[in-house]
Amino acid sequence: MSDSPELRRAAEAIRKSRKLAAFTGAGISVESGIPPFRGSNGIWNRYDSSLLDIDRFLRSPARSWEAIKAMFTGFLATADRAPVAPNPAHRVLAKWEAEGRLAGVITQNIDGLHTTAGSRNVIEYHGHCRTMTCLDCGKTVPLTAESTAADVPRCSCGGLLKPDFIFFGEGIPPKAARDAEELAATCDCMVLVGTSGAVYPAAALPPAAKRRGATIVEINPEPTAYTERGVTDVFIARKAGEAMTALDRLVSADGKDGE
Ligand code: NAD
Ligand code: ZN
Repeated sequence: MSDSPELRRAAEAIRKSRKLAAFTGAGISVESGIPPFRGSNGIWNRYDSSLLDIDRFLRSPARSWEAIKAMFTGFLATADRAPVAPNPAHRVLAKWEAEGRLAGVITQNIDGLHTTAGSRNVIEYHGHCRTMTCLDCGKTVPLTAESTAADVPRCSCGGLLKPDFIFFGEGIPPKAARDAEELAATCDCMVLVGTSGAVYPAAALPPAAKRRGATIVEINPEPTAYTERGVTDVFIARKAGEAMTALDRLVSADGKDGE
């Protein structure tokens, strides 16, 4: 890929940044084979998204679990399928953190791929799907193909197990909300990767960073709410993997200490 002026401007902003943050959405995991929820391939074309309302889950868990399992089809390892793997976009973010360039990643994803890629400061704004918690006794158990095999997975106490990502109608996990707000308020550059900007309150984090003076770099093959509303300063209209690989090459070639 040739180095477009946008790529060079983005690399410059990243290289100069003293506190760089990343904000990621479903699009960063598309090249790992996990489809976004929206769009032609998305699960909301096959299932009613209200199945993930917390009230509906409590009323009719069997119907909700059917949709939850359809979401997981892309995530969970089974006897005949290897676990999904991080792609170059996840790996570049982990590398930047290890090099001291990146303060942390705020992700809306529940797939755990940033952690698998080696990122350490990962703020999972919507929770994750590594475990489930019993709604009666509070016990936490691993979420695997086996532990979710029943039509309605239940705890040993008989209580309903709920995956540890948030459903519609639930609040953001308090620590994740605090950490994300703090990072958004204090970073001087934020790189958005693969997020439409349609899901609130997550979508309010980039504008909050921008109001505090951060430069917003955005990577997405399609324009989004951020590009359309003037939040984005530098827009790179590429897929996450190729854009992040190209950016990493430019940022690394420039050297870290051009101050
Ligand atoms: P979204 O589905 O609203 O938007 C995805 C965005 O990714 C779109 O703007 C699309 O243009 C872009 N995109 C598609 N392919 C891309 C690629 N190769 N590289 C870069 N960008 C690409 O996703 P969202 O904004 O994250 O919000 C959806 C909600 O659903 C989130 O809350 C998220 O938690 C959840 N979700 C998570 C996963 C996951 O964990 N992998 C998957 C689907 C949905
Ligand atoms: Zn229990």
